[in-house]
Amino acid sequence: MEALILTLDASGYPYCWMSWQDAVCHQVANRVSRQLGGYEFTFKGGLCRRTGEQSTVTITSIMALRGNNPFAWRKASIPLTNLALFRRDRHMCAYCGKQGEKGLHLTKDHIIPLSRGGQNDWNNCTTACSRCNHRKNDKTPEEAGMQLLFVPYTPSLHEGLLLANRLILADQMEMLQSMLPKHSRLHQ
Ligand SMILES: [Zn+2]
Repeated sequence: MEALILTLDASGYPYCWMSWQDAVCHQVANRVSRQLGGYEFTFKGGLCRRTGEQSTVTITSIMALRGNNPFAWRKASIPLTNLALFRRDRHMCAYCGKQGEKGLHLTKDHIIPLSRGGQNDWNNCTTACSRCNHRKNDKTPEEAGMQLLFVPYTPSLHEGLLLANRLILADQMEMLQSMLPKHSRLHQ
């Protein structure tokens, strides 16, 4: 099963994806407080030694765990992968505005080049087609005479959850979409 389970803390706040294997473990260990998802998945377990019957475990697409999110006080950092970056920028080159996916090769551009002290983080990275990236080379946008068509930003936790998973189920999507900040480019 490829789908991931959207995990909520006890107050109903989504904070991570978990694999179905982890979800089954939490379910069996009685750490799940609520199952909210619209999709159910049932797995067969081992045979019970006493009765000889096979156990089953059912999990759903959205599950709340007992206790509070242990990471809530920390600023969650969203891994900066090329895939997540391209999705944040809707597969659009930030310099020429061309859309990727149709044969256009997309790359990650460091707006202030690394060699000039730029950081490899969400605020300094943008999607660029290989042509624009090549043209910009080791220059800042000003030096290259190239203007950014949109401003890069660090995704919120919920945007990060949307960016990190390629296979989001409809009910998970609905919950995460309802929690996006207004300025987000990920609204559907
Ligand atoms: Zn371009």
